[in-house]
Amino acid sequence: MFVRDALSGRVVAFSSSRSKRPHKPKTCPFCKGAEGLTPPAVLALPDADWSVRVFPNAFPVVSGIAGRHEVIVETPLHSGLFENFSRKQLALVFEAFQKRFAALSHGKNARYVLLFKNFGDKSGASIPHEHSQLLSFPFVPDAVKTELKNQRALEADVKGPALVETAFFKAVCPAGSLFPFQVRVLAKDKNARFESFSSSQGVALLALLQAVVRKVKKAQGAPDYTVVFHAAPRGKKMRFFVDVLPRKSVWGGVELGGGVLVNFKKPEAALKELKSLR
Ligand SMILES: [Zn+2]
Repeated sequence: MFVRDALSGRVVAFSSSRSKRPHKPKTCPFCKGAEGLTPPAVLALPDADWSVRVFPNAFPVVSGIAGRHEVIVETPLHSGLFENFSRKQLALVFEAFQKRFAALSHGKNARYVLLFKNFGDKSGASIPHEHSQLLSFPFVPDAVKTELKNQRALEADVKGPALVETAFFKAVCPAGSLFPFQVRVLAKDKNARFESFSSSQGVALLALLQAVVRKVKKAQGAPDYTVVFHAAPRGKKMRFFVDVLPRKSVWGGVELGGGVLVNFKKPEAALKELKSLR
């Protein structure tokens, strides 16, 4: 159930099931052989003997007419890290991302689909096994509306000095970095849409994210990060981008009371440091 707080104007999703979420359970429900601990799969790739498995989140933030919440387990291996996945594995992960993004986008009430990934305790991840999540909303979230309105800022970002660059994508430290060592990966073609990326473009994007995640983990000296895919809502135009948000810092009174984020690392300095790391 969504409620807008009349004072702050922020939207709250009340979800009692979230409190029942196990934190680092003894038996990992995302491991191969533990499929019985999760809802049945809606997609398994490349086949039933899966390398990537998607199922409805057992403790959803949204459900029913309000939307859908799915988990994408990216590897059958409990300790297999995203940054070490093979190209073959990345191709399966991207196929799952794209197929389920399309499926949720075409849901009856879906107005926006959010694809994201949390890794590490400070990111809010309750299970350390590599996974991503998809959430469909019956409205376009405020943050996305703001991005659509301010999307000219992305044109400045994409012109900035590159951290890493490939044929289709460019990684930069955005001028308005909210977190130390934040990295933004932008599509070079401003009209490219996530839904229409080819498999090789998708693999190139994820391989670039692997390089970024490796650097970010080293730079902040902690494993915690969040990845947010920013795809334009259906019928809207916006340059596609992905933010890698290092999560070592915790929000305190300045952030919560003033709405001001404190970042100790200027993007120019972050770029220099991240460039020097492999
Ligand atoms: Zn596991």
